[in-house]
Amino acid sequence: MSLLTVGSVAFDAIETPYGKTDKIVGGAGTFISLASSYFVDRQNIISVVGDDFPKDTIKDLNSRGINTLGLQVKEGEKTFFWSGKYHNDMNSRDTLITELNVLENFDPVVPNDYQDSDYVMLGNLSPLVQSTVIERLKNRPKLIAMDTMNFWMDIAMNDLTKTISMVDLLIINDEEARQLSGEYSLIKAAQIIRDMGPKILIIKKGEHGALLFVNDDVFYAPALPLEEVFDPTGAGDTFAGGFMGYIASTHDLSFENLKRAVIYGSAMASFCVEKFGTQRLLELDKEEISNRVNQFVKLANFDMNLLVK
Ligand code: AMP
Repeated sequence: MSLLTVGSVAFDAIETPYGKTDKIVGGAGTFISLASSYFVDRQNIISVVGDDFPKDTIKDLNSRGINTLGLQVKEGEKTFFWSGKYHNDMNSRDTLITELNVLENFDPVVPNDYQDSDYVMLGNLSPLVQSTVIERLKNRPKLIAMDTMNFWMDIAMNDLTKTISMVDLLIINDEEARQLSGEYSLIKAAQIIRDMGPKILIIKKGEHGALLFVNDDVFYAPALPLEEVFDPTGAGDTFAGGFMGYIASTHDLSFENLKRAVIYGSAMASFCVEKFGTQRLLELDKEEISNRVNQFVKLANFDMNLLVK
């Protein structure tokens, strides 16, 4: 089943307590599509870069089954650039620089080859671009998921709420859920956000795992307690990529399967943070991923004898 990813393809400069990078390849669309490439053989990406973006990286994406027909390369323009610095606890970060560059006037084109996409992951990018892609799809996909961030809440709240009303699933972090809903309690925030449109909501809580809300059901998945988190950049996108890759490959939207997808997403995210940028996502194999998923199963599994008088 085909998966379409929309999201920034970018240069990032990252500073963590473990080190600092110059410009390296990043972007929500890059992390999502690399993570989902471990689940689907063929997938499509819509994004835009400048002519400063390395052709070899596009080849790397192609070699992982990612169709880049919808990745526009703008001659004479610069690729989106983001720079961030993590605090010592690695749970929070400051955005130092956001240069939209080619993203500023991005008009997404949906190639004909992409029109059969059953699953769509709208990664972090302008909400107007996200809704334009939905409007340009001739058929309604089986599931449209979306991610966003505080940056867009600050500068484009009206576009954002319109896009949120058009999707089936929203994936955001706890801080963003609180900002979007104006409510501190995540349970109340979840209700307010689902009243905006998406039937399914996932709230990521960094090293504290993720919550899945579907109808009256809630599922909590832990994050793997890792000895060392090297660079959390892209962990949220990698989660989304693992989640949607698993959904697109199993083609099952039941609550039980959504729970499994959350575990696959969490497992993929746990790899992403082990090295800078996309490095770890380029070198995984099936066995490593299965072993990691089994660690999650062991971590959260227990027998219970009810012993209340
Ligand atoms: P995450 O750590 O999952 O929030 O994602 C980090 C990635 O998001 C980085 O690789 C950035 O290039 C990308 N990013 C940061 N800010 C934006 C933005 N305003 N729009 C689109 N992508 C962004």
